[in-house]
Amino acid sequence: MSAIHLQNLVKKFGDFTALKTMDLAIADGEFMALLGPSGCGKSTTMNMIAGMEEPTSGKILFGERDMEGVPMGRRGVGFVFQNYAIFTHMSVRQNLAYGPKMRGAPKAEIDRRVGAIAEMLQLTALLDRKADRLSVNILQRVAIGRSAIMEPAIFLLDEPLSNVDAAFRAVMRTELKQLQRQFRQTMVYVTHDQLEAMTMADRIAVMDHGVLQQVGTPLEVYNNPANVFVAGFIGAPGMNLLRGRPAESDRGLVIDLGPLGVTPPLPDNLAVAVRAGRGDVLYGFRPEQVILSDRGLSMPVTFVERIGARTIVHLGQGESAVKAVFDNDVGLAIGQTAVVAPAQASVRVFDAGTGCAIR
Ligand code: ATP
Repeated sequence: MSAIHLQNLVKKFGDFTALKTMDLAIADGEFMALLGPSGCGKSTTMNMIAGMEEPTSGKILFGERDMEGVPMGRRGVGFVFQNYAIFTHMSVRQNLAYGPKMRGAPKAEIDRRVGAIAEMLQLTALLDRKADRLSVNILQRVAIGRSAIMEPAIFLLDEPLSNVDAAFRAVMRTELKQLQRQFRQTMVYVTHDQLEAMTMADRIAVMDHGVLQQVGTPLEVYNNPANVFVAGFIGAPGMNLLRGRPAESDRGLVIDLGPLGVTPPLPDNLAVAVRAGRGDVLYGFRPEQVILSDRGLSMPVTFVERIGARTIVHLGQGESAVKAVFDNDVGLAIGQTAVVAPAQASVRVFDAGTGCAIR
């Protein structure tokens, strides 16, 4: 049985549809990330799960129980927002103890739970500090602790790390994952940061313009994007996409790179599918899955970015611009011509009209 089941969920604000018919089943104990660009409907979905917004239509089930009309306080969910909501006049200990105390837990029990959660979130040394003397990073940790201490069966986090600094964010990614493993909670985590989703989530629900684009494990959405949106959004940089059409003579694809470029032949399964479609396609390959070769896409180098040991080479321009990522300095300079060959097994092809993957 699913912990959370969204069925035909729709949310309209006046004439504007923020969420279009969302269907999603989140398993018990699963870490599900809702990932997408700003305005795609992630928070709207989350707010409906929490009970802060009413769906326009559709259902939300927790287990088999329909949540319609069940107020936020009765849903048994913990919620952490982007802006930590903690009591600044209280100490860290008082903040953590607040929830259990309100529930009337005995003092010994409260002390034990505060001790355990403080330990897990590295707050032990700060327990007697006043919250108004803490950094933003630590405040968010306290906010997470304050919610986690209630041991909610469902834990909802909406961009909890977006205000903390980059180094701390990396630490918190690990801690949040450990927290979830320990409590085996069902976690729904809203983020626009694919790194957070890729590193923490069991599965990712990728959203765009109020539409669920794909649900899958981090590797599934990376390796087999359902459409060009997911292909471009997942990965840093995203998947390269070049327009092309089936070649007359062989199983390859003709790509419009001027006189220079014809791609290597497509893998068999894709060649058959592309020929069956016959229309224009988008030829996709990951920037990190290419080699320099004497056969492949011959393109001018337009820019070279060196990020530590990693090199991102920009090739071509306009519609035929692509990027190639290498683990070392490949010695290419602006103005040179490079020939890059995508690894055959990593090539993906999309219908140019619908944007959907051809498999
Ligand atoms: P962000 O990360 O920017 O919050 P999001 O993916 O969480 O993005 P939502 O906050 O769910 O997006 O908003 C989805 C769309 O619905 C946006 O276009 C937003 O402007 C609109 N929206 C959200 N709440 C309301 C509201 N109360 N009234 C009108 N429009 C709203």
